[in-house]
Amino acid sequence: MRIGWCFAFLSACIAAASGARAQDFKVTLLGTGTPFPVPDRFGAATLVEAGQEKLLFDVGRGATIRLNQISVPIGALNAVFLTHFHSDHTSGIPDLWLTGWIQRYYGNRKNPFRIIGPTGTVALMQNLERAYADDIRIRYADEKNPMEGVAIAPSDYANDGVVYDRNGVKVTAFEVNHGDLIKPAYGYRVDYDGRSVVISGDTKYSENLEQHAQGATLVIHEVAMANQEYYDKTPVVQYIMAHHITPEEAGALFARLQPKLAAYTHLVFLGSPAYPAPRVADVERKTREKYAGPLALGTDLMAFDVRRDEVIVIPDASKK
Ligand SMILES: [Zn+2]
Ligand SMILES: [Zn+2]
Repeated sequence: MRIGWCFAFLSACIAAASGARAQDFKVTLLGTGTPFPVPDRFGAATLVEAGQEKLLFDVGRGATIRLNQISVPIGALNAVFLTHFHSDHTSGIPDLWLTGWIQRYYGNRKNPFRIIGPTGTVALMQNLERAYADDIRIRYADEKNPMEGVAIAPSDYANDGVVYDRNGVKVTAFEVNHGDLIKPAYGYRVDYDGRSVVISGDTKYSENLEQHAQGATLVIHEVAMANQEYYDKTPVVQYIMAHHITPEEAGALFARLQPKLAAYTHLVFLGSPAYPAPRVADVERKTREKYAGPLALGTDLMAFDVRRDEVIVIPDASKK
């Protein structure tokens, strides 16, 4: 008891001495899955809480459920960022946008829904506004929800660069390589108070990502792995693998970048009843052939306390 208290006190002192408040830069994996509809890995979504800013990267299936599990009201999000337009990264948008408008503790948005992404983001939101016009009309008439809370504020970008800069939090978008036909596809780097996190989005090995990830404190990367025999015999599996990075390639990348922590999300496992899909342990083993540094195999609600000298892994952010 006493030792626990001392450690807690000590870490608070260290945080105060370094000028950083405890957990003032926290990243939570809300969804670590793929299009595969399973209950333990929801669609792609990563929450970054830095200083006063709460930023969400991608809105896959179930993002609102995960936000509620960690008691972050949807209306508290300052901005949403999209990496690309595959539906496993965007299908949660109407839920986030409209449930967030409901004036209950889990929603409560009173300002326009700010969403930033590559070219096509404005059109996506304008079309959703048309698709949900009746819901908006009905809830406004019936519940008197404030119209500002459902207004959309989307913006597009077409090149690498800073796309958000507020309260000391800078977000830079950079193009990645998800395959020749899957464009646009971007990753993001978030810088705050001398620390940074890179979120890969969906990509094969990307030289541009490696450049933008130089000196990053935390690197969160997608990964894909197939049963080798299944891969050799199955063109569609070869096709899918051509859009993603392998654990060996990711391991080599992490070894060059040397982040304080490398973490996987969006884990693609390809197999069939005849050819068992690889498991998390297989991804770890293959990564370890190239990389010996700190590594987290992401699961839904795993969070990271991004400090200057280390990144602390919180296995389940919903548990207080
Ligand atoms: Zn994806
Ligand atoms: Zn994708």
